[in-house]
Amino acid sequence: MTKAEAPKLARISVRGIVQGVGFRPFVYRLATDLNLKGWVCNTSEDVRIEIEGPRDSIDKFCLNLKAQAPPLAHIEEIAVTHLPAVGYRDFDIRRSLVDKGKCQLISPDIATCRTCLDELSDPNDRRYRYPFTNCTNCGPRFTIIEDMPYDRPKTTMRSFAMCPRCQAEYDNPLDRRFHAQPNACPICGPRVELVDNRGYAVSCSDAMYTAGQMLKAGEIVAIKGLGGFLLACDATSELAVKSLRHRKRRSSKPFAVMVENMEEAKRHCYISMEEEGLLTSPQSPIVLARWRQDSTVSREVAPNLRYLGVMLPYTPLHHILLSDVHLPLVMTSGNLSEEPIAKDNDEALRRLSGIADYFLIHNRDIYSRYDDSVAMVERGSSQLIRRARGYAPYPIPLKFKVRPVLGCGAHLKNTFCLTRDKHAFLSQHIGDMENIETVEHFADTVSLYERLFRIKPVAVAHDLHPDYLATRYAMEMNKGGIELIPVQHHHAHVASCMADNGLQSPVIGVVFDGTGLGSDGHIWGGEFLVADYHSSRRVGHLEYLPLPGGDAATRKPYRITLAYLLALLGEEGLRQGLALMKDVDNAELAIIQRQVEKRLNSPLTSSIGRLFDAVSALLGIRGEIDYEGQAAIELEMAAYKAPHEGEEDSYPYSVAEDGDLRIIKVCDLFSTVIKDSQQGVPRSGISVKFHNTVAQMVKHMCLSITGDAATNKVVLSGGVFQNRLLLNKTVGLLERSNFEVYTHKQVPCNDGGISLGQAVIASFA
Ligand code: ZN
Ligand code: ZN
Ligand code: FE
Repeated sequence: MTKAEAPKLARISVRGIVQGVGFRPFVYRLATDLNLKGWVCNTSEDVRIEIEGPRDSIDKFCLNLKAQAPPLAHIEEIAVTHLPAVGYRDFDIRRSLVDKGKCQLISPDIATCRTCLDELSDPNDRRYRYPFTNCTNCGPRFTIIEDMPYDRPKTTMRSFAMCPRCQAEYDNPLDRRFHAQPNACPICGPRVELVDNRGYAVSCSDAMYTAGQMLKAGEIVAIKGLGGFLLACDATSELAVKSLRHRKRRSSKPFAVMVENMEEAKRHCYISMEEEGLLTSPQSPIVLARWRQDSTVSREVAPNLRYLGVMLPYTPLHHILLSDVHLPLVMTSGNLSEEPIAKDNDEALRRLSGIADYFLIHNRDIYSRYDDSVAMVERGSSQLIRRARGYAPYPIPLKFKVRPVLGCGAHLKNTFCLTRDKHAFLSQHIGDMENIETVEHFADTVSLYERLFRIKPVAVAHDLHPDYLATRYAMEMNKGGIELIPVQHHHAHVASCMADNGLQSPVIGVVFDGTGLGSDGHIWGGEFLVADYHSSRRVGHLEYLPLPGGDAATRKPYRITLAYLLALLGEEGLRQGLALMKDVDNAELAIIQRQVEKRLNSPLTSSIGRLFDAVSALLGIRGEIDYEGQAAIELEMAAYKAPHEGEEDSYPYSVAEDGDLRIIKVCDLFSTVIKDSQQGVPRSGISVKFHNTVAQMVKHMCLSITGDAATNKVVLSGGVFQNRLLLNKTVGLLERSNFEVYTHKQVPCNDGGISLGQAVIASFA
């Protein structure tokens, strides 16, 4: 025997998402194909392998381990140790080893794979039209897991005993369903049922087909999905959509639409290559794509908007339903306005019976609520606006090791974040922390993540705002003795964008949002910071202006306009502005005047979101809103109607220096907008010029700050940067001035990303 042929032993540890994704059968096949002996097993922290055989076969094995890994596996690290051979005779899959303190990543729920789809549509297959078809490459994961390690008894599938054929698939290492925990078939698995809104079964031979017929007839059907109930109706029927709006008490906030396939998506939207990639990815998010003028989807679905949220079917049930109805369907969270999504059958019947006419339910329990994720593609790269299904609980990888902390987030679109080693476990979208249901959902999900990922936070980070329910949650934890770390809102935004981009050295942080309590007690939101994870220094901001009546004014942007005009331009400016705005009530005007002049209940704000609101209402675009950001969004939409969208004119403004603070003054901006408006410049043109102005401000400020900050790295964060026109113009101007610009990718730029920033800052505190 030559030296090269003597058997060697390699012990391999593979970390990442390697459980519940068909990894062990893959290893088994790889080893047996190369005639290697040994074993593979799941542990609480990795997949462990020992293989024995010729050195070159072992090398080939290690190479292919990464190169040919199953589609859902996400390998973070492979560690190999070489040892003396022990003489294994076979290759086995060994029993899982459980170690209580260790942490193992969990796969998100994944859209139905091609192979399962083929079975679903094959009349000769035993899973023909079976809505719970799944395999190791697709299907539910996170939403059915109660604890780790991921085995069937620890999922909501435990009540379904597998039939002999399913069991045989489950036991066969060469089968696509080997150890697929949710494995099921029509004989042994969960079933769907159609009931009316009092819970009585609708007699029919095929619940899914009948539900489809009802949707076609204009009814509203609540459909139990992966992470909760979705409310569905015919998206091409104005009547159906209007009635859903009325019953859900949501008069104009956009709905998302599910379409049968990519061809259909392209019939309703312009879909770029990147957008197509996202739509068809295993994550399968809602993508905000440019809505075609000739689309048959009713404009009621997303009133006044240029973009439509579209998604493709992501469960077998959706595929069956959509191919039955051949219609785009509105699919929106099963809740009443801002409550969390309903997940259990009886809960859905209780909460949604006033909205849905029928319920397509099933008997597989959902353990975790999980909304659809929302993404957009701008400048060729995708960014998440809402991070949930398909993404969470996969962690945001960090470039550095952190201590275990909990970031509680802020208020709207909230998430939390738990850290461990080099991972930031950012929760799925939880919702607006405005009602007891959402706060309970928040608390339950924190416990779930702590349990699943074996994290015991040593500190808890929270927003400076004392009244946020997330802050109060942190205060409660403090009673248990855990250290509290307050983090300023906009510092958290910057840190979140830094972590999203793997940055570590100080940056110029430009944070534009609606609201965030500043360290001086005022409401910030047009901020220029020099910051890293350790500290933050405010170096510039939009000038302070009064918010009459406080937060309530955000529902009625015209009040903000009146207050701003009064504060900036006095009585004469107010008079001119009023001439442009329709029917402002005199009594209300008098109150606002008093509030501003006497500084009564008028907190000061430097918010850019409010600046957009004020201009939107001044132009008569949107004086009262129905959902957060609406006035600003419709101001952006107006710009797209301009004949010369690319025009580069801007409005005047000035920058005043106050010590090392630079303050942007907008009095000239408002007076010139009024002048343009008086001279009949269309709103669209004014909107374009306004967007140019805000982008110019960013460039100017950054040029002024860069020397002082000793960096040319700029991060853009805050919900205002969901405005694509502003984002594009700003990034363009900054890059032309040789700044290195970083925007959000994996984490929302809105407050859904705050908890990540808090957690990273706290773990360095
Ligand atoms: Zn599959
Ligand atoms: Zn079965
Ligand atoms: Fe914010």
